[in-house]
Amino acid sequence: MTKPDIRHLNFEQLQNWITNQNLPKYRAEQIYHWLWLKNVASFDEMTDLPKSLRTLLSEQFEIKKIQTQSIQISKDKTIKCAIRLFDNNIVESVLIPTKDRATACVSSQVGCSLDCKFCATAQLKRKRNLDYQEIYQQVYFIKELAKEKYNLNLTNIVYMGMGEPLLNYNNVLKSIEMITSPKGLGMSPQRITVSTSGIAKMIVKLADDNVKFNLALSLHSAIEEKRQQIMSISTSNTLEMLANALNYFYQKTGTRPTLEYVMLYEFNDSIKDAQALVDFCRKVKSKVNLIEYNPVENSPFKKTTPERLNAFVEYLEKHRVIATVRRSRGQDIDAACGQLVNKNQLALS
Ligand code: SF4
Repeated sequence: MTKPDIRHLNFEQLQNWITNQNLPKYRAEQIYHWLWLKNVASFDEMTDLPKSLRTLLSEQFEIKKIQTQSIQISKDKTIKCAIRLFDNNIVESVLIPTKDRATACVSSQVGCSLDCKFCATAQLKRKRNLDYQEIYQQVYFIKELAKEKYNLNLTNIVYMGMGEPLLNYNNVLKSIEMITSPKGLGMSPQRITVSTSGIAKMIVKLADDNVKFNLALSLHSAIEEKRQQIMSISTSNTLEMLANALNYFYQKTGTRPTLEYVMLYEFNDSIKDAQALVDFCRKVKSKVNLIEYNPVENSPFKKTTPERLNAFVEYLEKHRVIATVRRSRGQDIDAACGQLVNKNQLALS
């Protein structure tokens, strides 16, 4: 018979279990600490527990742990990790270091059910949602990697890896609850960004749940027909619905959403496209990130030229839209935005 995973007990449930064994309550604190703060893989590592309790725990529960399948290091120091999940499926997580910051980019689904035309993950069918601890453990793993390889503390987390996070809503929120909890990693929610392809009703739900983390929308075009050509989700989530949902999010949470805009050569990088973006920004209080496109196999898109990018940025600035240009990291190891597609898994699918 398979034993339950002990990390599926919340703190109260663990306390109840401890009380039912006639053990002192502080044992629950100790166990929780080992599980979430130390992320141990076995009960034997819980060295401040009596041997009898460790034996009892291992008879009744198991501890599941993700494994590293492989690691690739880019010449710009970005590290891409293939992570083997509890059922042997593989997702990718990325460590993006700078001089004084380390960002973890984590996956929320195995594959993706959406089909954004510029994204490599879209080539993998969605197999399943990640459990919240699988997401948490990716973050923990990247945190340790940042320390070990670059002596950096983990400063930021982005839910921009494989999958659409808002289609795995409960696990994503639960993982963030543990990442921000003092009983978990104790990180500030302002250091966390969840990126969505744009599911209006789920953005409204985030606002109603009064979340404290940042939200990014993959906009990529503020012209309806063009957006529909590259993101089929936008046929049922129009720009107007998204603008309303984002305004509601801002009004409820006080957090200004970010609009992500990947610059595709002669597709969405003209002055007409910039005009549409300015109009959208007039409707939605937001920040804009312009992202360099990363080549993906079999993609019809190319990255924009420096001249077109400059003209686009100048137009935005002239109309008082402040945009940050994000250079790509880890392109040589396919770790950059939109490039995550576990190549072994793709070959098998
Ligand atoms: S961009 Fe995100 S939502 Fe779209 S296919 Fe890729 S992983 Fe899925």
